Amino acid sequence: MKPSDPGKLDRVIAEQRRLQDERAQSYRERALKIYPWICGRCAREFTHRNLRELTVHHRDHNHDNNPPDGSNWELLCLYCHDNEHQRQIEAATGTGSTGADAGPSSTHSPFAGLKDLLGKKGDPQ
Ligand SMILES: [Zn+2]
Ligand SMILES: [Zn+2]
Repeated sequence: MKPSDPGKLDRVIAEQRRLQDERAQSYRERALKIYPWICGRCAREFTHRNLRELTVHHRDHNHDNNPPDGSNWELLCLYCHDNEHQRQIEAATGTGSTGADAGPSSTHSPFAGLKDLLGKKGDPQ
């Protein structure tokens, strides 16, 4: 509404960051209201106790795309969420796919062992 002046830019950026943070909080809360607290990949169930390990994934990887019906959200545990993005990165950079005989059978996951480890350990404190 006002013409932009250079001194304002920092404040605008800070404000944007704050809004982004708030938006992240709010879409998480909304997603948790819409969907059951279960990881969409490994079906791990969550309660208030470990809810912070349940994250909101954006199906189209666009964090600004937050339709009110939640159609772009998927609840994933931290490990499956990492996996999901790892696969995306590998697909984007071309690592891991040699072309020949490529199939959806790749189970490469740097967190596969970690998951078991944490599962056995139980409460960290
Ligand atoms: Zn999971
Ligand atoms: Zn994600």
